Amino acid sequence: MLEIRNLHVSINDKPILRGLDLTVRAGEVHAIMGPNGSGKSTLAHVLAGREGYTVTAGEVRYLGRNLLELSPELRAREGIFLAFQYPVEIPGVANIYLLKAAVNALRLHRGEPELDAVDFLALVKDKLRLMGMDTGLLYRSVNEGFSGGEKKRNEILQMAVLEPRLALLDETDSGLDIDALKIVAGGVNAMRSPERAMVLVTHYQRLLNYIVPDQVHVLAQGRIALSGGRELALELENRGYGWVEAAAGQAG
Ligand code: ADP
Ligand code: MG
Ligand code: MG
Repeated sequence: MLEIRNLHVSINDKPILRGLDLTVRAGEVHAIMGPNGSGKSTLAHVLAGREGYTVTAGEVRYLGRNLLELSPELRAREGIFLAFQYPVEIPGVANIYLLKAAVNALRLHRGEPELDAVDFLALVKDKLRLMGMDTGLLYRSVNEGFSGGEKKRNEILQMAVLEPRLALLDETDSGLDIDALKIVAGGVNAMRSPERAMVLVTHYQRLLNYIVPDQVHVLAQGRIALSGGRELALELENRGYGWVEAAAGQAG
């Protein structure tokens, strides 16, 4: 589904990613870990097509296509979803309005009929229940005045409604208390499917107690410095990131 080869990315001429390789197959859940500032958000943003990043080398293939040639809008329509580390507030735009517009844009792109108000509401209420969210949040401006936990849950609600092929979750766990973490993890787990891949960016292994990844990767020195199974996350929890960075530094 996703094949990243030798990816180099700079921000304002400063190299951040320096030769990153990653392969994600349909049905898999991958966790990207790494110290603060190692480029985890950069990777997620580049895949979603956000502005401000310059790809200086390498290639990214998504479902067999050159992802880097696609506009951010087209990436979203082709099933890539990014849940932000810092969800944006959109004053004056009701949450339900944004969700409905996004769902119907996707359906139009796929040649499916738009959902009418009744069908859409049924869909959203189903997902709200899954996320343990209050219906009232639908009618408030997107993320405006939401608590940290409500914003994160709202990101997962968007994902649940949009049913992406490739979901990128950037530190969706940070700022969540344990109950909210379990609900978010439950929402993510409910979305695991053979047709969908998920890449979870996380700084701590806590989330991985509830979402068991197929592979864990550590970002250091601008590339994937180490990959392993879920046990790698536990080792990182115990030993920190220093030893991985030291080894990556020696390697080049
Ligand atoms: P992580 O998500 O792993 O904490 P980021 O991808 O956010 O790391 O950041 C990687 C590096 O890029 C950091 O050194 C950070 O300071 C730098 N960086 C991120 N955004 C910008 C920006 N807009 N301008 C300059 N440097 C940036
Ligand atoms: Mg960070
Ligand atoms: Mg980040």
